[in-house]
Amino acid sequence: MIEINGNEGEGGGQIVRSSLALAAVTGQPARITNIRGGRKKPGLLRQHLAGLRAIRAVCSGEVEGDRLGSTELTLVPGKLSGGEHHFEVGSAGSAILVAQTILPVLLHADAPSTISIGGGTHAAWAPPFDFFSRCYLPLLAKMNAEVEVDIESHGFYPSGGGRIAMKVQPTTGMEGITLADRVGRLQPKVTALVSKIPELVGQRECDVIARKTGWDKKAFQVVDVQQAGGPGNVVMIELAFDNVCELIIGFGKVGVKAEQVARATLRDARTHLFSEVPVGVYLADQLLLPMGLAAHSGHRSEFRTRPLSLHSRTHIDVLKRFLDVNVQTVSAEDGSVHVTVEGREG
Ligand code: AMP
Repeated sequence: MIEINGNEGEGGGQIVRSSLALAAVTGQPARITNIRGGRKKPGLLRQHLAGLRAIRAVCSGEVEGDRLGSTELTLVPGKLSGGEHHFEVGSAGSAILVAQTILPVLLHADAPSTISIGGGTHAAWAPPFDFFSRCYLPLLAKMNAEVEVDIESHGFYPSGGGRIAMKVQPTTGMEGITLADRVGRLQPKVTALVSKIPELVGQRECDVIARKTGWDKKAFQVVDVQQAGGPGNVVMIELAFDNVCELIIGFGKVGVKAEQVARATLRDARTHLFSEVPVGVYLADQLLLPMGLAAHSGHRSEFRTRPLSLHSRTHIDVLKRFLDVNVQTVSAEDGSVHVTVEGREG
């Protein structure tokens, strides 16, 4: 039984989700204590509970401690099975995080899967659907993971109520990937989504970003979303290169001017752009798990990113508990960090 102290490092939900996924894929029972001990409201929230139940379903696992607020759980994984599954987060909690939790399991299952997950699709503190589909999954495809996703209904922060569909083919083996530099020139795209609020809000966000960047008019679009669980507005700046794509999101809020949301989002986008690294802070922590799985079967990966977040550092520790991998991080003078993930005998 692998024992994980959920309070270590970042002490949030990711340590729980990644431990569950890694336990299931490697067939090793795991016990997690002090769940989300580092958070104001410790224990499992709806989104984590949905992730745990989803994992249990796809690995025929035996679980103890699957209730809201639980600070301790045990998973004894069984056979990884594909097929059709429906999961509900039951709040604005992120459907994407649930999808990401079970994805490694489904990639190693015995048959293709068709998954439907209800919850937030553009939730705060989680990867937005567009980040998942445009940034994360294309990189996984290069690592030999065939996954299709579709958004059936948008679930905006804070009302949620969205739905995504995901189809996963079992992988014939995860490959490594190298993301040392950006390749090609920047292909920016700005999308403002509005649901049940005036389109003008999205237009104002686009106008600010267009004026400040001088990007081609064709790079901007405002989409009035028809299928959504409630009202909402986000503005997303996609920074695509030939080999990698990042997506920065800003959330519209009641009482905050559209111009202010746009300016803050552009500031974050520029921070990433000027850093010149291919992999941003969020993508870094999310790539570590698939890279770890590839390394476990002998395929090396590497990437260059900004200084590692506590999420990433914690994730590296979790990987090492379950997988036979080495993760090396080397900081450069320009502040970037080169990360190599390889098998122990590497
Ligand atoms: P946790 O806070 O432990 O539940 O983990 C949150 C996860 O969501 C991490 O993997 C983050 O990389 C990811 N995340 C949070 N905000 C964003 C964002 N704006 N874009 C992409 N990923 C995000």
